[in-house]
Amino acid sequence: MGISRILIANRGEIALRIHRAAHEMGIETIAVHSTADADAMHVRLADHAVCIGPPAAKDSYLNVAAIISAAEIAHADAIHPGYGFLSENAQFAEIVESHNITWIGPKPEHIRTMGDKVEAKRTAGALGLPLVPGSDGAISDPAEAAKVADKIGYPVIIKAASGGGGRGMKVCNTPEELPSLMAQAGSEAKAAFGDATVYIEKYLGNPRHIEFQVFGDGNGNAIHLGERDCSLQRRHQKVLEEAPSPVISPEERDRMGGIVAKAMADMGYRGAGTIEFLWENGEFYFIEMNTRLQVEHPVTEAITGMDLVREQIRVADGKPLSVKQEDIEFNGHAIECRINAEDPWTFAPSPGLVTSYHAAGGMNVRVDSGLYAGYKIPPYYDSMIAKLIVKGRTREGCIMRLKRALEEMVIGGVKTSIPLHQALMNEPGFIHGDYTIKWLEEWLAGRSG
Ligand code: ADP
Repeated sequence: MGISRILIANRGEIALRIHRAAHEMGIETIAVHSTADADAMHVRLADHAVCIGPPAAKDSYLNVAAIISAAEIAHADAIHPGYGFLSENAQFAEIVESHNITWIGPKPEHIRTMGDKVEAKRTAGALGLPLVPGSDGAISDPAEAAKVADKIGYPVIIKAASGGGGRGMKVCNTPEELPSLMAQAGSEAKAAFGDATVYIEKYLGNPRHIEFQVFGDGNGNAIHLGERDCSLQRRHQKVLEEAPSPVISPEERDRMGGIVAKAMADMGYRGAGTIEFLWENGEFYFIEMNTRLQVEHPVTEAITGMDLVREQIRVADGKPLSVKQEDIEFNGHAIECRINAEDPWTFAPSPGLVTSYHAAGGMNVRVDSGLYAGYKIPPYYDSMIAKLIVKGRTREGCIMRLKRALEEMVIGGVKTSIPLHQALMNEPGFIHGDYTIKWLEEWLAGRSG
């Protein structure tokens, strides 16, 4: 039969992104929305819209019963979860499938395995991916932990198995503080994630964050679409992403990409995924896998010419991958700026009425956003309101184009992070591509000091 009507279980720019791919495939879309999003662009453009609850995400975008009911009422034959919200909820994926609705995402068992960091690391190791040296699985006995830490050397990082969003981590510098930090990490993890399980790994001093985009057909075939460098972070949150990474050679991309693609093929992985590594002194260390589309997927689309959402829909529909590894070419350089409704220097949220709006345009400039003049940014959700993605033939050309595009963007009435991105474009550390995951916070501290 094939997919003909997709319910998009998300909001904002990503809901719009999925709608666009669907319509280009001749597929109808159903938007769901909270009462706070009745006027949102994703609702206006969809073929059908269903209100699923009040503003709080737990009552609307996380409300499984309401979303499944909406899918049944509106006769959806597939659900795309976007990112965040229910996208990495294995149980939701199972419920969708049990209603005979196609789940546009990985197999539930793979979502579950990769959602548990201890299991994910064990699986990645078994599949041949290089790991950060550390404990062999979960660890609870302080004496055993001390042995592991001695072996790998201090500093070490204690991480929560159920952690996420950069939370639930403690850096430990000496054997003396290990027992108390382990106890703290365990009780904090229990409070935040309902699971006290922790594990230990080597704390890398100054790595880059480099991730590989992968795609599988669920039948043992998989490809990689190269890497993205997401080292520009504040509080473990990505601010700007680029592809390719300024430090990865084509040979290294082929080598590492081959390893991750083989791992996904061996696993029987289905759909889009991202394998995240820390990278230091030329070595990759697996940290986690995200079993969904990422915010930063457009930089990969820009340099490969592939539509990743289209590919997700095709694979979910049982079709083979649309390309073979040898057909994939990497052209030029792409950078994405995440534009948030917040003060560019204090990062205080700035929701409210958008009084004027003009998106940058021109050659190789893409703006993914649900904004329009007169739109009121609700205070209940993530502060990201737009993504500006620019491609150039070279990294230098891309930065010049990005400067020009940032000058053109007009978002009136609220504060945005555009001035932060403009300042970054003039910063030698960024221009030279010579930065690690610590760089942005140090640079911000230097500016205010
Ligand atoms: P989360 O799921 O909470 O995002 P990750 O395991 O992806 O957790 O780690 C988030 C960030 O924490 C990384 O991008 C990096 O900045 C830092 N980090 C994680 N593990 C280590 C490590 N072993 N050494 C140094 N930094 C780390």
